[in-house]
Amino acid sequence: MKSTGLYIHIPYCLHKCGYCDFNSHAVDPVEMERFVPALLAEIDHRADASGKDREVATVFIGGGTPTTLPAQALEAILERLRQRFRIRGDAEITLETNPATLAPGLFERLRAAGVNRLSIGVQSFDANELKLLERVHSVEEVHQTVASARAAGFDNLSMDLMFALPGQTAERFRAHLATALQKCPEHLSTYNLTIEKNTAFYKLHREGRLEMPQEEEQLAQYQQTLRTMADAGYEHYEISNFCRPGRECRHNLIYWNNGEYIGLGPGASSYLAGVRSRNCNLPARYIREVHATGQAVEFEETLEPRQAMGETLMLGLRLQKGIGIDAFEERFRTTLRQAYGRTLDGLLEKDLIQLDDNRIALSPKGLFLADSVILEFIA
Ligand code: SF4
Repeated sequence: MKSTGLYIHIPYCLHKCGYCDFNSHAVDPVEMERFVPALLAEIDHRADASGKDREVATVFIGGGTPTTLPAQALEAILERLRQRFRIRGDAEITLETNPATLAPGLFERLRAAGVNRLSIGVQSFDANELKLLERVHSVEEVHQTVASARAAGFDNLSMDLMFALPGQTAERFRAHLATALQKCPEHLSTYNLTIEKNTAFYKLHREGRLEMPQEEEQLAQYQQTLRTMADAGYEHYEISNFCRPGRECRHNLIYWNNGEYIGLGPGASSYLAGVRSRNCNLPARYIREVHATGQAVEFEETLEPRQAMGETLMLGLRLQKGIGIDAFEERFRTTLRQAYGRTLDGLLEKDLIQLDDNRIALSPKGLFLADSVILEFIA
């Protein structure tokens, strides 16, 4: 039986943060009441279409902010997933949460419903930075959220932190890392703030009202993060992700290993049997389409072998251990050199990748320039 990951997208947030280009929308209680039955109907539809010969190894409920839904709705979603999909007994079941949505007893209920991993959107331990990012939670709420999660029995916590914020020094970010590490998270993700089109920050930046740190400052903060996390005993297993031994995010490993996954909810993507598909983004349209046809797919394509090879490299090179060349060549029935000889030589010459008998990985220099290195394989 094939193994798959399940991703569920809850598209609502208390407020749309200025830098956010995710498919997230301000909470709308009326629409949200209609959203949950639509999601349950899509679960039924996709389970019938793709769930029968697949075993679910991981579930990731992300967003948006899933905990903008009431606990009862999250319980109903988890229950329906269990009824309709074959979820393995040892499945990793992650739920993203935002400290501003902490409700009494919520984590106990999620734990009882089978969630065994929480990913907490901390972003910063500084009130001014949170304000700049337009996050609606306070530093105190971060502390309360972590304490509540531990008290509810969660022994697998991940925290997200952002660096390279306007005006943020390496010293300040080191202090945030130290505060995060005091809480002994099993997993930590660190992302530098990037300015994406169609965000409020993009406009501010273009108008010269948001000054981003220079690239050298960003690199210094990243390198400092690598040192601090290594000193604290964390494995750096992916460009932006660190974990205690054995606590990698198993769901994200499916993506990075270019494995199969089913995405449910507005804007969610799926990759099954070489076919990539994506649902429509707008929750109102999603609800309408699911009610009419059981699904809301707006885009679908079968990947050509060259595309699939490029994606495998693009995703796998994000991992510190890189990609096994034998497995790659067996999967695509060609040698890596035949497919990408010139690209490999160019990157080796610039010291951006490392290549040994059976492994290709980013070099330490390539790690910070990962986005541009990776693009070479899909050009
Ligand atoms: S909480 Fe996260 S998903 Fe929601 S608007 Fe802010 S950055 Fe986007």
